Amino acid sequence: MKEMQNSVKNVEKNYNMNTLYDETKFILKKYGIIANKRLGQNFLISDEVVNAIVTAAKLSKTDLVIEIGPGLGNLTKPLLENAGKVVCVELDSNMLQILKERFLLYSNLEIIKQDILKVDLAKLIREEKQKNTNLQTVKVVANLPYYITSPIMMYLLEQKLEIESITVMVQKEVAERFIAIPGQKQAGAITYTIYYYAEGEKVIDVPKDSFIPEPEVDSEVIHLKIRKEPLFPLAPDSLFFPMIKTAFSQRRKTLLNTLANGNILSSKEEGKKILETLGLPETIRGEALSIEDFKRLAEMIEQKRR
Ligand code: SAM
Repeated sequence: MKEMQNSVKNVEKNYNMNTLYDETKFILKKYGIIANKRLGQNFLISDEVVNAIVTAAKLSKTDLVIEIGPGLGNLTKPLLENAGKVVCVELDSNMLQILKERFLLYSNLEIIKQDILKVDLAKLIREEKQKNTNLQTVKVVANLPYYITSPIMMYLLEQKLEIESITVMVQKEVAERFIAIPGQKQAGAITYTIYYYAEGEKVIDVPKDSFIPEPEVDSEVIHLKIRKEPLFPLAPDSLFFPMIKTAFSQRRKTLLNTLANGNILSSKEEGKKILETLGLPETIRGEALSIEDFKRLAEMIEQKRR
């Protein structure tokens, strides 16, 4: 028992550093860690940014937080202090020992060594809620690995999980696409998917020097509040999303040409008539369409196909 108390004191002493920068340097040295570029490892060292993320996530003790890619645990610590339970999913086995030792004193942490895209999140959420009935809401909080940001966002949204919000750090340019309003210049195909499922807002700009090692790009934290219901219902075989994907696959071409080339339209003539009925010019490009325009376009093409 005495030994245990001593080791707990040592853990506290070792990690009681003044700043996140000091703490990160200490951990990297202690465990001989060299950031793995392939896994998108850029460790957050800004206390201000960590606080902004945690504040934006509006955590409470009835929250189950899923953290994707905890790394050394720089964001995990305040999550553990503010949420009811934190489940971390980390692909790099080198991080597991660090996380276990660093958070020895916390009983509300679980670590899963897995690729996030392979985790059955619906099952995870169901089981955690069964184990602890105090957990009412689920929030995703992460400094995402940039090489798979979009696949992760699609994975989280398309499964229609019981998630209340997603608060994430992503590359700045990507953040702007994620939270753009469909029809705005920055919009891409993913803008429509995100907007269909969630309402997004910017939290904070994050300069490169907030990380060790410094990434090549600036970052931004965004907060997505998941809609209770998606914007409108869609049949499982709806053309809506495949059409948007096709529409943005060749941004320099007109929507008409892209949809005809991508076999969404049976002919350009058919497309011209549909655009005219919708009151849209035949030279219009995909990015100029609102989400409702795409919905009506998909419905009309579907009707013609029947
Ligand atoms: N959260 C830490 C921080 O803010 O300092 C680390 C963030 S770092 C940008 C991304 C983390 O995601 C790394 O720890 C990396 O190993 C992990 N990661 C990369 N690919 C992953 C995947 N497919 N599934 C789960 N974690 C992954």
